[in-house]
Amino acid sequence: MPPAAAPRPQLSIVVPVYNEADNLAPLIARLEPILDANAASWEIVCVDDGSRDGTLAALRALNAQDSRINAISFSRNFGKEVAIAAGLDHANGDAVVIMDADLQHPPEVIPAFLAKWREGFLNVYGQRTDREGESRLKRNFAKAFYKLFASFGETELPEGAGDFRLLDRRVVEALRALPERARFSKGLYAWVGFRATGVPFAVADRAHGESKFRFSKLFSFAFDGISSFSTVPLKIATWLGVAIAIVATLTGLYFMVRTLLFGTDLPGFPSLIVSIMFFSGIQLISLGMIGEYVGRIFAEVKRRPLYLVGERVGFDRQDSASPR
Ligand code: UDP
Ligand code: MG
Repeated sequence: MPPAAAPRPQLSIVVPVYNEADNLAPLIARLEPILDANAASWEIVCVDDGSRDGTLAALRALNAQDSRINAISFSRNFGKEVAIAAGLDHANGDAVVIMDADLQHPPEVIPAFLAKWREGFLNVYGQRTDREGESRLKRNFAKAFYKLFASFGETELPEGAGDFRLLDRRVVEALRALPERARFSKGLYAWVGFRATGVPFAVADRAHGESKFRFSKLFSFAFDGISSFSTVPLKIATWLGVAIAIVATLTGLYFMVRTLLFGTDLPGFPSLIVSIMFFSGIQLISLGMIGEYVGRIFAEVKRRPLYLVGERVGFDRQDSASPR
């Protein structure tokens, strides 16, 4: 926590940043007038997620111009989810807005967030009205994921809601208290509950650079999401096993009766091979599913810090590791 004397800024903006040197200045230029007009006081907390370009230098320059713009820089790339967690750890505002650095989340929506917050909503999420800027594959994948999550999950994800949102201090503290390392924030926002509402917005095109999320990364992200919020995949393995065992018993009975009535004949070699391969496949899949969960348990029990801070820009605190 900052020194007790420092007054709390009313509004904090948390921005995860990974190789966004060209986007930072335009983002701040667009944000500042909106913040000045809508908040009694504000701060911007950028989290440099181990960028390899001029991002950190750009953040230093911004902080030199305006001390309300602070940043922490990770020792390496820890991923966007972790960057958001770090941002929430370092934000002091009564309300915290999370947004991307690439100007895909229009700052002009923030006043609408604040209006909802003043109405008493604690968890105000931006709801994307379209996914125009994305490839068909990505869009369909997202759709399939939300369907799967909805049918598996015990947690409900509002449709089209992402990381662009305003969180009340109470929600931020609730999120900070969650100990897990696999941070699927979309699920966590929903899991903590509180009065929530959506504000529709149109996703803009990325200003500079390209998306950091390749398809393979999205896929592992999706599995992270499902496995941290549902044990249904484990149950699928069980039920599949039960179903196959029943089929196998019936087939066994059938062959027994047939042999008793008509005697044996040798043919049936192909069906034997096919069934062996089928059952080994099912076993390996089930084992793999269990393995995924065991791997996640392993990652959690190691209790490593969620992130390591390499440098602080503008904060007065000196500690070098995360508080968790
Ligand atoms: N980002 C990050 N760490 C990463 C990847 C991305 O902090 O490992 C940040 C990135 O700088 C941006 C936000 O997360 O501010 C969203 O990333 P991006 O625009 O690449 O994702 P997309 O909009 O395509 O989902
Ligand atoms: Mg983007």
